[in-house]
Formats: sequence, structure tokens, C-alpha cells
Amino acid sequence: MKGEKVGDPDEKRAAMVKQQLVTRSVKDGRVLEAMRKVPRERFVREKDLDLAFYDGPLSIGCGQTISQPYIVAYMTEALGIGPEDRVLEIGTGCGYQTAVLAEVAAKVYTIEIVEELAERSKILLTELSYTNIHFKTGDGSLGWPEHAPYDAIMVTAAPAHLPDLLIEQLAEGGRMIVPVGRYEQYLELVTKHGDEIKKRGLIGVRFVPMTGCVQGDQ
Ligand code: SAH
Repeated sequence: MKGEKVGDPDEKRAAMVKQQLVTRSVKDGRVLEAMRKVPRERFVREKDLDLAFYDGPLSIGCGQTISQPYIVAYMTEALGIGPEDRVLEIGTGCGYQTAVLAEVAAKVYTIEIVEELAERSKILLTELSYTNIHFKTGDGSLGWPEHAPYDAIMVTAAPAHLPDLLIEQLAEGGRMIVPVGRYEQYLELVTKHGDEIKKRGLIGVRFVPMTGCVQGDQ
């Protein structure tokens, strides 16, 4: 039986899904279930624990952020991920989005450029018993060609332009979602059918730039 007490993280996640996702028209049942299940409270910094379900992004250190729950759900839903899909993620960060992807996909390949974040997220996701995530520390703008092609690619740091190298690593029928732009950013959904690459602008967003701590950004 689930505890009824106020402050129960299960209850708080259920409320987050209802108030922040369902009301904003996130409909994919597998995505909503994943967002209910993944313990977001474990991914934020201890001092931010009472903000774990806040309706916005939060700092995770190293000048980087954990995305707003709605954006995580929105991007995951837009990729239309099926249970057999293999997904590449650029920008592991604290690993929260990675966990959500691991709930809805068969395998997740995730790359983080900041070593401290890469190590921290790998330890946490292993502790949480995820066995379908493969980790790499390095520059994700090059993708991970050894495991390509991918059914879906999720980019959570913003490049100035659409990254061609990543489009090349999409499978037939593959989808990529990526925030593009330096100051004004748009989420772009890229789909690949044969030689035809379709691009669709979705919503305005604000992600950290595609760089690392060494670049001294934010
Ligand atoms: N999905 C993350 C969001 C993290 S913010 C979450 O929910 O927590 C974006 C992350 O992308 C940062 O951790 C940043 O270090 C990383 N990043 C930036 N440029 C990168 C690159 N070229 N390759 C891999 N990761 C990169």
C-alpha cells in the first residue's frame, strides 16, 4: 500500500503529472507513467529537495540545469518512442531525462561532456537499477557512430545550428528533437524518410548551450 502522508514522493509525482503535464495536453500514457515512476527527487541537489517538483528548470551545478518536467515530457512524447526503440541522448546532465527515456525505450545511449556530471549520473542511474543505459563521457555533437543508427535522438543542449552529423546517425523513419539557436532557441523535430529530411519548428525554449564547464558558460 502506498503511504498517504503529506510529502510522499509518489503522491507528489502523481500531482506533478496531473497538474503540469495532463493539463498541458501531454497524452502518451507510457510517457506519463514514466514521469510518475522516475524518482525526480533523487536527481536534484539535496538543498533543492523541496523544489524537486517545481514547474521549471533547476540548477544541477557546473552551470547546467535539470529541465522543467513539462519539457522532459513534451520532448519525450514528440519523439514517439516505442518499446523496441534505441535512443541516443546528448547531454546526460543529472540523468533525469535519461531515466525517463530508459523507461519508454529498449536501449539508451547517453553522452555527457562534463566529467563530474557524467560520473554522478552514471552512479545514480546504476543505483536505481537501470540496465539498459550505456554511458559515454565526451563530445556528443559527434554522436556515437559505433552504435548508430538510432530510432530517436534527444538533444538537451542547444547547438547554434542543426547538427548534420547527428542526422546521419538516424535510422530510416528516425526522429530527432533538438533545441537550436544561441539566444533565441526553437525546438526542432527532424524526421528521416529515405533521402528526405523533414524539419519542423515546435516551441520556443531555453536550454544551456552545447558546450561544457570548460567554456565558462553561465
Ligand atoms: N537532460 C538533462 C539536461 C542537462 S543540461 C537533464 O534533464 O538533467 C544539458 C547538458 O548537456 C549539460 O549537462 C551539459 O554539460 C551537456 N552538454 C553540453 N554540450 C555537450 C556536448 N557537446 N556533448 C555532450 N554533452 C553536452
